[in-house]
Amino acid sequence: MASDHKPDTLGVRAGGIRSDFQEHSEALVLSTSFVYKSAAEAARKFANEEPGYIYSRFTNPTVTMFQDRLAALEGAEACVATSTGMAAVATTVFGLLKAGDHMIAARGVFGTVVPLFDQILSKFNVETTWVDPRDADAWVKAVRPNTKLFFVESPSNPALEIADIAALATLAKKSGAILAVDNAVCSPALQQPIKFGADLVIHSATKYLDGQGRVLAGAIAGRKDLVSGPLYQFVRTAGPAISPFNAWVCLKGMETLGIRMQAQSANALEVARWLEAHKGVQRVIYPGLKSHPQHALAKRQQSAGGAVLSFVARGGREAAWKIIDAVKLISITANFGDVKSTICHPATTTHARLTPAEREAAGIGEGMIRLAVGLENPADVCADLERGLS
Ligand SMILES: *Cc1c(COP(=O)(O)O)cnc(C)c1O
Repeated sequence: MASDHKPDTLGVRAGGIRSDFQEHSEALVLSTSFVYKSAAEAARKFANEEPGYIYSRFTNPTVTMFQDRLAALEGAEACVATSTGMAAVATTVFGLLKAGDHMIAARGVFGTVVPLFDQILSKFNVETTWVDPRDADAWVKAVRPNTKLFFVESPSNPALEIADIAALATLAKKSGAILAVDNAVCSPALQQPIKFGADLVIHSATKYLDGQGRVLAGAIAGRKDLVSGPLYQFVRTAGPAISPFNAWVCLKGMETLGIRMQAQSANALEVARWLEAHKGVQRVIYPGLKSHPQHALAKRQQSAGGAVLSFVARGGREAAWKIIDAVKLISITANFGDVKSTICHPATTTHARLTPAEREAAGIGEGMIRLAVGLENPADVCADLERGLS
């Protein structure tokens, strides 16, 4: 597939491997291992002297198609898939860092990343400094001689803070560190961090790549020396490999990614504008709104605002829970990335494990509601919110 094709074309066509059966739709290859014609062929494949499939913890044709399609969409040299988004984050840090290393991570990253770095990675003597993704000076000050990794999510979830990816890439390069950007909220349909200098892009494919809330999956795309080197080595050795079935669901999901992200972003913008005009709402946080403090930066990095927005209800937790409890159409669930709209209260669900001080620093208040807008008609979504707001 020529890489000069447009993203919509790559989403549908990139990464196809057709077998001798000449199937049109990408095949789901459910096989643990692959066979050889001889002992010598097996030896050559194990020695990496001859390309080919060995065992599905290492490689699998359906997984290869998923990886190639995502690499094409991200503009990446290589991609390795993992069982979940958290497995992609864990593979990144355990594959790249060693005892004595230091990393800088943006506050307000996905909730589970915090205990992974602070409670598990710290046992291996890797220290994390947490900084505000918007504060360029704080990143400069946090750099140490042993800083090896910058880890950032943009926009962050649920606070929707935007990191200046190009500025961080410049600082990372100067500091001899690798910049990894979690792109789950935007997906490559709206933002390609590699274009702005990121070395690695991390995905929870569970979100928009699947797009319909069916499977858990993850991936890391980026520099070939890292992805096909230590990161792939970690996956095949430690074993957080993706199931071929899950890879297949995401591979097919990517065929509609571009059109879904455009439509869901347009719906989210409409709902955000409606919320902003509502007197029961104190504040709406959505990168696509002019009122977002980093709207200009978001417009530079993203082709649309995305489908996730947050808003702060007047009246704190009580008011927020009342809105959530009144919905009949929107699903009350902590997941996002679905064509079904979802709503949750981050302070008591996805980010409940943080201390109140950590939540405060991450911009997650008691009145905050996260809404991920799906493909329902936005008027129906607004009517559903109106019930608890009025
Ligand atoms: C969901 C999510 C993750 C974790 O992904 P899983 O597939 O649930 O393990 C990581 N980062 C972001 C931004 C996410 O939204």
